[in-house]
Amino acid sequence: MLAKILYIEDNPQNMRLVRKILQHSGYEMIEATDGLTGVALAAQELPDLILMDINLPDIDGLEATARIKALPQMAHVPVIALTANAMHGDRERFIAAGCDGYLAKPVTRIELLNTLAHFLGHTVRQIHYT
Ligand code: MN
Repeated sequence: MLAKILYIEDNPQNMRLVRKILQHSGYEMIEATDGLTGVALAAQELPDLILMDINLPDIDGLEATARIKALPQMAHVPVIALTANAMHGDRERFIAAGCDGYLAKPVTRIELLNTLAHFLGHTVRQIHYT
């Protein structure tokens, strides 16, 4: 497996699309359909990267991101926000909440895989320098 990716998403179609892309590309994927389950899974599974929906049924993706980033073992794990309703200023809001990147939905295969390679590649290079 290339890496373990946690996707927190309440929309089954979006989940299915990303699952198909990740599984065919050699990633392990774990899934949560609400924010609190996502935070608990992040703490338990220690994924290498998190894809985060913003509109979730309980706490929103920004609150979930803040809680995950407060976990010492997860503080440096990249969180990429995924949202369909991106408006002016949203990117800044996501970054302020601790998100490391942002993808507009629906994501394309190429965009998603490029983003994962970018963030996971960066993590690998950092390990070599320390
Ligand atoms: Mn949603």
